Amino acid sequence: MRKPFLAGNWKMNLDRRSGVALARTLAARSVTWSGREVAIFPAFVYLDEIVRATAGSGVRVGAQNLCDEKSGAFTGEVSAAMLKDVGATLVLCGHSERRHLYGEDDRLVNRKLHAALSQGLDVILCVGETLEERKSGSTEARLSRQMTLGLAGVSAEDLARITIAYEPVWAIGTGVNASPAQAGEAHTYLRGLLSGLYGESAAAAVRIQYGGSVKADNIQTLMRAPNVDGALVGGASLQSESFLGIVEVAL
Ligand code: PEP
Repeated sequence: MRKPFLAGNWKMNLDRRSGVALARTLAARSVTWSGREVAIFPAFVYLDEIVRATAGSGVRVGAQNLCDEKSGAFTGEVSAAMLKDVGATLVLCGHSERRHLYGEDDRLVNRKLHAALSQGLDVILCVGETLEERKSGSTEARLSRQMTLGLAGVSAEDLARITIAYEPVWAIGTGVNASPAQAGEAHTYLRGLLSGLYGESAAAAVRIQYGGSVKADNIQTLMRAPNVDGALVGGASLQSESFLGIVEVAL
């Protein structure tokens, strides 16, 4: 059985005060949660404080990005060891905004993923097709490439520390979520790819989150689609009511 995994990507939103308040609210509520895993992804500068605000609770804290290098002359970058040092336990790799706004390609995403694993951080690897790719029938080709190159060199043992987030680019921040049928089809394809790469039983253990305009009123139907094991949530993770509405109905 795969434990549902709900994660909130705060992106470049929330200041110190509102982020800590939201984290504290979630941490306090987490005592009532069972059978699900929850994580939040604040901006780098607030990680340390948000880790302390959630200490001992059922809320995990992760980073939205990291550098592929270990240390040195990389102005403006943050290493996996630094993330670990402040208590983050996981990191997003390959979010579509990193890929499309900052030009990160599959090889860089793969190097970042290895940098994270080497420091003991868990990873959410984000994949997803653009609207043009979907319209031209190349969704599967895009997903296959992102998965194969993104996971290159990852052992079956390390696969256990990776979650996949299927996030169609056309659904992120648009208010237009994939239908449960579209999500189920993509997730089933992704699990098949994992099976081909790692064998059926290793693939069966990997959680595949759906991301793209998830709200409290669509999470249940999305989670009923085959192979949908949770959600990566952007906009609706920024307020306690909307994120709790997702976390608490998502079983
Ligand atoms: C995201 O940024 O990963 C995301 C899914 O955003 P939103 O929920 O706002 O579409």
